[in-house]
Amino acid sequence: MMYLDNAATTPVRREVLEAMWPYLTGDFGNPSSHHEVGESAARALADARLSVAASLGCRASEVIFTSGGTEANNLAIKGISLANPRGRHIVTTAIEHEAVLQSCDYLRRFHDFEISFVPLGADGLVDPLAVAAMLRQDTTLVTIMQANNEIGTVQPIAQIASAARAAGVPMHTDSVQAVGWLDVGLDVLGVEALSISGHKIGAPKGVGVLAIRTATPLEPVMHGGGQERGRRSGTENVASAVGMATALSLIEPHPAVPALRDLIIDGVLETVRGALLTGSRSDRLPNHASFCFPGTSGEAVLLELERRGITSSSGSACAAGSDDASHVLVALGVDPDVAKTAVRFTLDAQITEQDARDVVTRVAEAVATLTGGPH
Ligand code: PLP
Repeated sequence: MMYLDNAATTPVRREVLEAMWPYLTGDFGNPSSHHEVGESAARALADARLSVAASLGCRASEVIFTSGGTEANNLAIKGISLANPRGRHIVTTAIEHEAVLQSCDYLRRFHDFEISFVPLGADGLVDPLAVAAMLRQDTTLVTIMQANNEIGTVQPIAQIASAARAAGVPMHTDSVQAVGWLDVGLDVLGVEALSISGHKIGAPKGVGVLAIRTATPLEPVMHGGGQERGRRSGTENVASAVGMATALSLIEPHPAVPALRDLIIDGVLETVRGALLTGSRSDRLPNHASFCFPGTSGEAVLLELERRGITSSSGSACAAGSDDASHVLVALGVDPDVAKTAVRFTLDAQITEQDARDVVTRVAEAVATLTGGPH
């Protein structure tokens, strides 16, 4: 089976599991306990925090461990907006992950926030000037994802962040899909806060990080024992924090992958009649190829591909199985019936040229089987 759904999740890396193992067994202490077992766990957590900070271009005190990307996004959006005395206005896009959209909607419904959505090109790209034009005296936050999970489009985050900074508005970015493939860091992007998730980079599910500048006020969402400097209460998941730090430290460049992505994109567009690329051709994640196949159904294509040894997805693990067209594609003006034919391939670093050629052949076969056309 060729697993091409790495944007949904990845297997835990052996080195990550080995680094975590001691903190699930012998060194199992609670880092808040004042005895040797607890202090040993506290040291591991402090080392993990330092290591994550080095990977994300920030200070150790600016790293908050969370239960994943969803929680990091909730904490950033609610926490920064509610703590910001400027007002009640957020600027975002209609193609964000549901964790962002629903957090904004919560603030709209229960705290009278106004949410403005930046206009997008058909490829999902944001124009930094359009963001600048939407900023107001009462804007509390700009939150725009670094790379889109469904269509792979990569946003000009550094330019958007500099527009926000010029207006004195904090900027958060959801870097969950970017990490491992693009430069991610508070320093390189110039943002005040960013979210990442462990299970997209070979750490376990259920761990994430919100990196946030010390100078950016944050209202906690989780109240309790005051862990994570009072910004995220709850006994720390020491083993997973160690796993996250290890996974980040193992990230390395994969220079061969973009050409294999392009081989798939070009091959599918050439051989599959009517196939459409979704997202940007040029500004896209190095491991991401996504299409619509009008005249089919995305779910049927997935099944045909599974029978041919390829695991892919309809675009978003959260939306999988639901009959609704993707909110991302609909926001970009794709006809809802066409949006329901979406299929996404997200590669790992192990993919070979032969694999990429096989993907093209099998996609062509799968679509031809469903449309009755020639192979
Ligand atoms: N943001 C994006 C862009 C994602 O793709 C995902 C997961 O698919 C998340 C946030 C949520 O992360 P988690 O699964 O760790 O809650």
